[in-house]
Amino acid sequence: MNGAVWRNWAGNQSARPAEYAGPETVDELRRTVRRAAENGLRVKCVGAGHSFTSIAVTDGVMVSLDALSGIESVVPSSDGSALVTVLAGTRLRELTARLWDLGLAMTNLGDIDEQSIAGAISTGTHGTGARFGGIATQVRALEMVTADGKVTTCSPETDPQLFVAARVGLGALGIITRVTLRCEPAFALHAVETPATLTGTLAGITDSVATTDHFEFYWFPHTDRVLTKRNTRLPADSPLAPLGRARAFVDDELLSNKAFEAVNRIVTRYPRAIPRVNAFSARALSAREFTDRSYRVFASSRTVRFREMEYAVPAESIVYVLREVDRWLHSSDFVVAFPVEVRFAASDDIWLSTAYGRDTAYIAVHQYHRRDHRAYFDAVEAIARSVGGRPHWGKLHSLGAADLAEAYPKFDDFCEVRDAVDPGGVFANPYLAATLPVRAQ
Ligand SMILES: Cc1cc2nc3c(=O)[nH]c(=O)nc-3n(C[C@H](O)[C@H](O)[C@H](O)COP(=O)(O)OP(=O)(O)OC[C@H]3O[C@@H](n4cnc5c(N)ncnc54)[C@H](O)[C@@H]3O)c2cc1C
Repeated sequence: MNGAVWRNWAGNQSARPAEYAGPETVDELRRTVRRAAENGLRVKCVGAGHSFTSIAVTDGVMVSLDALSGIESVVPSSDGSALVTVLAGTRLRELTARLWDLGLAMTNLGDIDEQSIAGAISTGTHGTGARFGGIATQVRALEMVTADGKVTTCSPETDPQLFVAARVGLGALGIITRVTLRCEPAFALHAVETPATLTGTLAGITDSVATTDHFEFYWFPHTDRVLTKRNTRLPADSPLAPLGRARAFVDDELLSNKAFEAVNRIVTRYPRAIPRVNAFSARALSAREFTDRSYRVFASSRTVRFREMEYAVPAESIVYVLREVDRWLHSSDFVVAFPVEVRFAASDDIWLSTAYGRDTAYIAVHQYHRRDHRAYFDAVEAIARSVGGRPHWGKLHSLGAADLAEAYPKFDDFCEVRDAVDPGGVFANPYLAATLPVRAQ
């Protein structure tokens, strides 16, 4: 493995680490970190490599915790919830299925479940639902190996400063080895997906967001068409009515992945066809309704490779932001086949969370991996920033330390914690050097 090239899922980031390490115990990981620090090598832990930024890239020691995976303990509470401690390399897909068998569930998930739990929380991975925070808001305690090779734990009671920084810690503070999550009683989701207009959806957005447990929509650029998704929480023992295998294959595999890949290959050669293709795709989508285990509804598979940027904006700004993006698309000759995804989350108190201190809406823009995304992402970024937008840490953006300090009120506090726990920059890499200010010498 040493000398081999590492690539992320999207294929836009690569690294040739000096060394790969796959520790099987926390003790082995401690020794790896200590040895690297002594040899002047940087260390970076990689999860599933699903970040679009170079946040997981290193030329030092690349650590995978794939061997440190699984649920370690479950402490039930009288209200049916439980504190579940998992090893940090655990993939969300394995975790959610295992939790269901224990009568438990993650409160919310994003739209895939390939990520490792530590990678997901470290970049602020989130789903949708105005009453619910991102995955990191479920964290109740963390265990980490710090730059000196020691194991430390943090929680609201033990080292609260480290805890509030490390829940969305960008991999900058240490290597997380164990995560304790508050999991809730298992639940089902009733999903209703409906084609609609952007105009009508924006007119009723406050109501839709407030009255639906998990509301989101996909807007087809160059058209007034959207697909809305409303997921309602039901008790786990509700009768399930999952999509039939054939329908799931046609909708999720054929239309969302295989046919969409073919469409993208064609429009890459004939981009002027995109507005008509988008209008056709939006009209071809039919309504569907199903009920299934929560984690099966939240997450789906994504095989078409793309680049993504996502900005968190104050929830009340989302209508303005979408209208401005629409206006920009009308005034430019840029064409994009990927739908724009719009989601919501509750305010939280995690320093580098995109939803820190405010109810939040997210706008995510995508571009097929064989097409240039820059003009589009730059334009959307400028619009989102004009309303105080904050970039998702795992997705493309162009902000440096000074911009980020403006966007995140607790940015300086985070940097102070980073300077205290990793004064020598053992966990630094070029991405962190560009986004966090250079430490005082
Ligand atoms: C197809 C696709 C769909 C996505 N959907 C969503 C979505 O719905 N919502 C959303 O918010 N995001 C989404 N993302 C982004 C994704 O959730 C984040 O980028 C997430 O960080 C990926 O997790 P990972 O395990 O791949 O982490 P990696 O990308 O491998 O690493 C991310 C960061 O976490 C750090 N890290 C990893 N493990 C550890 C550890 N043990 N200790 C300390 N630091 C660690 C790494 O060093 C790095 O800094 C999506 C990405 C893709 C490619």
